[in-house]
Amino acid sequence: MQIKINFNAGPAALPPEVLHEAAKAVNKYKKTGLSILELPHRGKEFAEIIAESKQLVRELCGLDDNYEILWLHGGGRQQFFMIPMNFLPENGSAGYIDSGRWSEEALEYAAHYGDVQVLASSKKDNYRHLPTWPAKIPKNLAYVHFTTNNTIYGTQWKDVPESKGVPLIADMSSDIFSREHDYTKYSMFYAAVQKNLGTPGIALTAIRKDLLKKVARSLPPMLSYPAQVKEDSILNTANVFGIYVSLLMLRWIKAKGIATIEKDNNQKAQLLYSALDQSSVFTPYVTEKADRSMTNVCFTAKNAESEKAFLALCEENDIVGISGHRSAGGFRVSLYNAVDLESVRHLVRLMQEFESKER
Ligand code: PMP
Repeated sequence: MQIKINFNAGPAALPPEVLHEAAKAVNKYKKTGLSILELPHRGKEFAEIIAESKQLVRELCGLDDNYEILWLHGGGRQQFFMIPMNFLPENGSAGYIDSGRWSEEALEYAAHYGDVQVLASSKKDNYRHLPTWPAKIPKNLAYVHFTTNNTIYGTQWKDVPESKGVPLIADMSSDIFSREHDYTKYSMFYAAVQKNLGTPGIALTAIRKDLLKKVARSLPPMLSYPAQVKEDSILNTANVFGIYVSLLMLRWIKAKGIATIEKDNNQKAQLLYSALDQSSVFTPYVTEKADRSMTNVCFTAKNAESEKAFLALCEENDIVGISGHRSAGGFRVSLYNAVDLESVRHLVRLMQEFESKER
């Protein structure tokens, strides 16, 4: 069967080496005589998987022991409510930067637990650009939350913004490990892992110990960060296979090196954006170049008919996953770490071929 070129936004393309290793482990895991799917979550082998994965996250992010690393159930959205449950007191306020649907959903979840202040928003322009980062951040906020990369609309904060001493929390679901980044500026960051880091249903979280001391209410253990830390992410039956795939991804990222990953990602994004900027048929969604995501490239074609025809051409040429998010329409090409430059070249060639016929 022809292998597809996968530009899906998540679950997303995984490197062939990782798929191969994961398949081997499904058959037999090391010398255990068991499949990884049968491996006990409280056994020695899984404890080693947890320990190595945490060590690699620390190494790749430049974090010391001042941060706790957790693998939690529930993907990205579970963090949308665990964060305010843990850190937003009932009579307190949290600041949110609204730069896209995921940021908006995070603040809607937080409003169940306390006061939410929208410090900046680009919603009125349909998130075509990033909002201006607030010049003033009220000192009394429990934390400021933002989304580093907007998976749906294709905008991205390139540098870590300044939160003036208020704890800064970042949703890095779609650009974690995609470039050099100063993770130590965050009090907490998290990522749903089904993009650059594995398979769905899990979130990687890193929380600084000073923030962990500020838990605002009594919570059942599954929803409490300190309780999860105490049990080292194995409070209940852990997602053994999912976390193992994330470990394989971390090893792959380390072997390739973040600097090389960043260089490749820039090259892929530049190739696609420059084709879009020169096109008479396709229009990039984000016009402000500095705001453009290196990870999710969004665009439209001339009209609905032309979009349908281009989609059909891509399908004929084994390209999948380029339809825009159901709330945005058009196209979205996700250039996660496992997508290679040759795949992007193939897409750009098809775009040019299509254009020459449409003109
Ligand atoms: N945050 C961002 C930036 C995302 O892109 C997504 C999913 N695409 C989520 C959160 C939600 O993740 P999940 O579907 O795992 O809840």
